[in-house]
Amino acid sequence: MHAKDSTPIATSLTSPLLETPFEGSPRAAELIAALQDFLHGELAGLARQHGIDHENSASKDLLRQVWKRSHALGFYGMTLPKAMGGEELSVLDQVLIKEAIYSSGSPFAPHVLGELSGPPRIGSLVRKATPRQMEQFILPVARAERSICFALTEAQAGSDAGALETRAVLEGEHYVLTGRKRFISGSPFADFAVLMASTAPENSPEREISAFFVDLSAPGVKVVSGYKTMAGQSHTGDIHLNAVRVPVAQLIGEPGRGLGLALGRITVNRLLHCPAMVGLAQCALRDARDYALGRQQFGRSIAQFQSIQHMLADMTTDWMAARALMVQTAQALDAGIDARAQASMSKLFCSEKAFAIADRAVQIHGGEGIIQGRRVEFLFRMLRMYRVLTGTSEIQRNTIAKELLQP
Ligand SMILES: Cc1cc2nc3c(=O)[nH]c(=O)nc-3n(C[C@H](O)[C@H](O)[C@H](O)COP(=O)(O)OP(=O)(O)OC[C@H]3O[C@@H](n4cnc5c(N)ncnc54)[C@H](O)[C@@H]3O)c2cc1C
Repeated sequence: MHAKDSTPIATSLTSPLLETPFEGSPRAAELIAALQDFLHGELAGLARQHGIDHENSASKDLLRQVWKRSHALGFYGMTLPKAMGGEELSVLDQVLIKEAIYSSGSPFAPHVLGELSGPPRIGSLVRKATPRQMEQFILPVARAERSICFALTEAQAGSDAGALETRAVLEGEHYVLTGRKRFISGSPFADFAVLMASTAPENSPEREISAFFVDLSAPGVKVVSGYKTMAGQSHTGDIHLNAVRVPVAQLIGEPGRGLGLALGRITVNRLLHCPAMVGLAQCALRDARDYALGRQQFGRSIAQFQSIQHMLADMTTDWMAARALMVQTAQALDAGIDARAQASMSKLFCSEKAFAIADRAVQIHGGEGIIQGRRVEFLFRMLRMYRVLTGTSEIQRNTIAKELLQP
């Protein structure tokens, strides 16, 4: 947190009103307890020592240190299959663990499981990767020795991801890649990218998108970073490819199957963004309640004004409802249900409600809430972003309506 923010990294929001039985497995409960120690102990110390907060990002070397420690403690690869040293957790357990990580308020929250550039980026590729690709790309990432980003979006291909223009032309034993990816999370500190490019013949009306492992230090690759999101973070960059020669052996799966590969786990991935929103919204709710109890105006705490009480009541109700939908969707996915629309509902509802919670948290803080450095001010900006990221609210509504209206 910012130096001005006196709120320590806190544990979960405690109130009998919000108590629910723990929905996950005993193993998830153990992992959460161990993670709390890591987050509030070692990582909090590291953040203090290096002056890291949500807006002052860690260097690549420091991140590598965090990934390696998380790996050594058995957390980093927990989402991977057992054969790769992972825990092969249910979707529900993953959701609950991520919620606990984000509700800690730690600036290292996205890095404990390597969400931007670690194991969650490769888990779904394991079945498609060749033995050589496993050795060269996947296992080093699983061991926290290398990092990897996922590059699909381009200037003209956002929500319509299939409209990408980056081309991969086969020349002998290589594909030659030319184009520009933008807004790629983790690219400023990644070693490799899983990158989507068109392998369709030039001027073909057909879309044929293929996936490649691309070494970001290869000749012709440039990562352009330095710009910041509205939350003040610089984890995102663009990847420029100028006639980059990528060996045919780095094609992932079959040609033309890239988009399927990229979007294959979209339902689960959409849901797995929800615990970050719910966890961060919990921080906003906690801060608003504490501030309302402590702030005195007109000779009493502002928590005694009914307008403040109603805001807190609405925030709590929104938070409980968003969390319940997230948990129920995870349970549906674990039961093998094709919960595509439910995952979209969850992403839509959690992102919209989490932002509404942050907005009211700012209001309860009054002037303090709109001064940079207060945690709620950061949470407001951070939670605004989730309404756009990983499929905008409009795209989620499209998916829900399509499922509902199909004959
Ligand atoms: C911080 C950050 C990190 C990101 N990380 C990655 C990453 O790691 N890898 C990656 O590949 N991409 C990444 N992205 C890209 C992200 O997925 C896209 O920004 C997002 O999908 C939206 O695309 P767009 O920005 O081009 O918006 P557009 O698609 O241009 O949308 C603009 C507006 O039009 C609306 N709209 C578009 N199509 C429709 C439609 N059919 N119906 C109704 N409304 C519509 C949208 O909802 C939105 O309101 C990241 C983006 C950001 C900002």
